[in-house]
Amino acid sequence: MQIRFPVKIKGEIEVFTGWRAVHSNHRLPVKGGIRYASYADQDEVEALAALMTYKCAIVDVPFGGSKGALQIDPSKYDRDALEQITRRFTLELVRKGYLSPSENVPAPDVGTGQREMAWMADTYKHLHPEDINYMACVTGKPVNHGGIRGRVEATGRGVEYALQEFFRHPADVGHAGMSGTLEGKRIIVQGLGNVGYHAAKFLSEDDGALITAIIERDGALINDKGLKVEAVYQYIQEHGTIKGYPDASFEADGKVVLEKSCDILIPAALEGQITVENAARIDTKLIAEAANGPVTFGADAILRERGITIMPDAYVNAGGVTVSYFEWIRNISHIRFGRMQRRQDEMRGHQIANLLRGVAILRKFVLGIQAQANSKT
Ligand code: GLU
Repeated sequence: MQIRFPVKIKGEIEVFTGWRAVHSNHRLPVKGGIRYASYADQDEVEALAALMTYKCAIVDVPFGGSKGALQIDPSKYDRDALEQITRRFTLELVRKGYLSPSENVPAPDVGTGQREMAWMADTYKHLHPEDINYMACVTGKPVNHGGIRGRVEATGRGVEYALQEFFRHPADVGHAGMSGTLEGKRIIVQGLGNVGYHAAKFLSEDDGALITAIIERDGALINDKGLKVEAVYQYIQEHGTIKGYPDASFEADGKVVLEKSCDILIPAALEGQITVENAARIDTKLIAEAANGPVTFGADAILRERGITIMPDAYVNAGGVTVSYFEWIRNISHIRFGRMQRRQDEMRGHQIANLLRGVAILRKFVLGIQAQANSKT
């Protein structure tokens, strides 16, 4: 579905175009992010909705596939304008039956995050005050607005888990021309957004991998001894660019760094980054698709031919929707995680204590009988 809607921003009327596509509604609600990007178009949204169906099926999360987009460059608007636009977009989605807890549940994607999800949930609540499940109309909300801890880092954590799982299978690792564990493996990450940042951080800090290059919009940072991901991230937050980061060499042409030698390449930015044009020059053993569709169909064939293992996006980045499922479940069940658990733990504790008490009494009893028997003999 395509929507066009006007919004008055600083006295001027601007018309925005947005989409929401549903690929499979065999399982309801359908699920998938909403992205804010100037390059967004209908074809992309439809393809990404299909990917969501497969993603949910692979991790066995009972949702159908959907995706949404708004054609906008969010960096060109201030907070108030973005709130106005988001609320208006939400209104259109709700009215047309493309946003509700039981039918269609959006989530963050490129260019959107917790803030946009909070605005969406709030807009839905005002339109449907009678819906006791209103919180479940979107996931990826802030924790104090019905979100759950761990959702923000979930997709990056999922990338780490997917790679850890891969390295638990020595035959597959050997087939990819590697051995051992993630420790010391040279990893290049493209994109230090939510997914790339968390994946790189966890892989280097928890698994001992070396992040030898980080490719961003404005170039790439290279350090063969391993970059400190948190320090790079903080530098970007402070300076708005990777340029000038002290502990690395800088390469202005990020695309070239995709072809630098490494063990694992993690494209975590946009789709269509590895194409027939550069596939023959990619110098890695394993590609983990953290972004959606970073390897094109043509490039996929070339890479396979060259013996490079590809772990597909539908599995590698499914951590986000997995944790979204927990958030949705929590919202519709209206009970805090841990509340039931605590009671169960308490009960189990009592049972064990009673059992131990029973054993102690029995032991005393048996010892008593033995002592009596001994004194008689
Ligand atoms: N946008 C994310 C994805 O593409 C998350 C979707 C969700 O949580 O529903 O998988």
